[in-house]
Amino acid sequence: MLEQARRILKDVFGYDSFRGRQGDIIERVAGGGDALVLMPTGGGKSLCFQVPGLLRDGLAVVVSPLIALMDDQVATLDELGVSVAALNSTVSAADQRILAERIQRGEIKMLYLAPERLVQPRMLAFLQGLQIALFAIDEAHCVSQWGHDFRPEYLQLGQLAELFPDVPRIALTATADMRTREEIVTRLHLQNAERFLSSFDRPNIFYRIVPKEKPRQQLLAFLADRRSDAGIVYCLSRKKVDEVAAYLSAEGFPALPYHAGLPNETRAMHQKRFLNEEGLIMVATIAFGMGIDKPNVRFVAHLDLPKSLEAYYQETGRAGRDGLPADAWMAYGLQDVLMLKQMLQNSEGDERHKRVEQHKLDAMLALCEETRCRRQSLLAYFDEDLPNPCGHCDNCVDGVQTWDATEPARQALSAIYRTGQRYGVGHLVDVLLGKDTEKVRNFGHQHLAVFGVGKNRAEGEWRSLFRQLVARGLADVDLEGYGGLRLSDTCRPLLRGEVTLELRRDLKPQTTSKSSSSGGSPASQLVRPEEREQWEALRALRRKLAEEHAVPPYVIFPDSTLLEMLRSQPGSMSEMAQVSGVGARKLERYGEAFLEVLGGRAEAPRVVADIRHELISLASAGMTPAQIANQLQCTEKNVYSLLAEAIGKQQLSLEQALDLPEDLLTEIQDAFLDGEGELPPVAGIAGQFASRVPEGVLYCVRAALQSEFEI
Ligand code: ADP
Ligand code: ZN
Repeated sequence: MLEQARRILKDVFGYDSFRGRQGDIIERVAGGGDALVLMPTGGGKSLCFQVPGLLRDGLAVVVSPLIALMDDQVATLDELGVSVAALNSTVSAADQRILAERIQRGEIKMLYLAPERLVQPRMLAFLQGLQIALFAIDEAHCVSQWGHDFRPEYLQLGQLAELFPDVPRIALTATADMRTREEIVTRLHLQNAERFLSSFDRPNIFYRIVPKEKPRQQLLAFLADRRSDAGIVYCLSRKKVDEVAAYLSAEGFPALPYHAGLPNETRAMHQKRFLNEEGLIMVATIAFGMGIDKPNVRFVAHLDLPKSLEAYYQETGRAGRDGLPADAWMAYGLQDVLMLKQMLQNSEGDERHKRVEQHKLDAMLALCEETRCRRQSLLAYFDEDLPNPCGHCDNCVDGVQTWDATEPARQALSAIYRTGQRYGVGHLVDVLLGKDTEKVRNFGHQHLAVFGVGKNRAEGEWRSLFRQLVARGLADVDLEGYGGLRLSDTCRPLLRGEVTLELRRDLKPQTTSKSSSSGGSPASQLVRPEEREQWEALRALRRKLAEEHAVPPYVIFPDSTLLEMLRSQPGSMSEMAQVSGVGARKLERYGEAFLEVLGGRAEAPRVVADIRHELISLASAGMTPAQIANQLQCTEKNVYSLLAEAIGKQQLSLEQALDLPEDLLTEIQDAFLDGEGELPPVAGIAGQFASRVPEGVLYCVRAALQSEFEI
């Protein structure tokens, strides 16, 4: 059986070996047993039901909660040559009938369904008349009423056990906590399922948390090494999302906003572009997440603190599904703590609930101020013991300096106390530094004993100290008042001199692009400079094929497969067949084309196509022609002529391409429309605008007018 499974793995999927416990799981389900699979994102859950689905006779039925997830898997299987179909609300009644007939004729091997479809009595009756290979229940944690993804329809899936007693069922999830696990077992009637629990470590993710100083510059410095990588930047508020997306675009990093305040169509379009294009950054609130199956998200950056480690793990987990190096980066400061505590205070819910949330926030803060390995600390929270420091996080790589902060901490606490427990950090630091400010004089704080006792330390050090005092609960925030600091009960032993305090010494934050170690992971770049050109050529070919087939690029081949082509340089079809991720069907369809690119026989024409494509995304992300020219390393004149071409083909609107003042635009349009009949050539009116706009602008306006006339 395992032999057959291996053959399918190689022939259909193009992979050489099973990962982790995939082999055991497949053997269990293919042999007719039930299974509960807990595996982190990117662990390879899909193969666990796809392979036995292909091995067993009959129709494999897969339950999936989101249309986006279904579409993605269906497209992927379709590319692999598996006869697969999805049944959801986007399928018309007529198409549903055709599909039902095809299923009855045995022409469909795998069927993806929304849970509410599956449990319709008619559907169940229909399926009972067929041979069923297995039921796979993906995202099984949706059955949990306590989780945020709860889907009531999942509760009804339990009846499958009684209706189809001889059909194996496999439930899969990346949510591991004990309570959810037990709920899945009870509600889905999986008491006889064998449990397969994998480590929740994501070894390819590099974790880094930096103190927040000038967050935007820090983010830019982090991004500098990651041009043309796709990533997600999480922010707390919608307003900030909009601002950061605009800022990044202006700085030459094409970025799109995503939050619940945007119209549905805009959100859908941005999500689609993120999946289909390469190198786009999605700036988003947590509204963006579930259903994002894009495997080559190279980084997840947080500009604001998540409210729990569960949220942090889940959000950072969207990076690097493909197993290639990826980064989780976060800038964190005292302001974040204040904000979240405030939100918690104002939230609805009883005291007990608030205490739980407070506890979760504390765990998040502890990770931020952690002096040991971040990964050990993160996994320990999820009850997993990593015996040794990971060597792949900022603390492991940079080392953490700690210092004895007992005395200055006492001074800081004393400053809080002496000033009456009502001032924010800014003023407290001024007092400690002995600054002569208006506020100090107004309140007579220059007469306090603590005034000026902290002159020997820099302002940044004091701020870092206050942040850590709050994060450790030694000082509290006065949430009823104006967010001033107060002493908390736990600081008494420290004030009395009964305990000492070791704190983390903040590294100087990196705000220039010449960031060496502090920017991100040591392996932040996937390809070496000398490989760049061929890598881009491979990606361009992939993009072209993806456009032709109307699927996201990673459905053609994941990055890992392209990377292996790049490194192993196959020179023949049989060598190409050895590359991981190249199955029989894809070899036949695409092998030749990729061999040509690798052999350097098909480069030039595509690079232009590539530039065109990138230009359109850069322009629609709001970059000016000068910035685009800089990014694509070509002349501005070239950019204008490509823009005009794209406008002419209606791939881009004039407004997206250029930011022209209204009256100037009208003037140019009038000049073109002045005469009778045909539009005059640009040369005919260029004289009038000679010193006012680049000639390229005129080409763009003309192209827009022309395309309007053609409609
Ligand atoms: P999950 O659903 O657990 O997040 P996926 O099933 O999407 O993970 O798999 C993540 C990636 O790993 C996919 O690109 C998949 O093709 C790849 N993958 C899975 N199993 C293997 C394997 N045995 N060998 C190579 N690649 C694999
Ligand atoms: Zn580590």
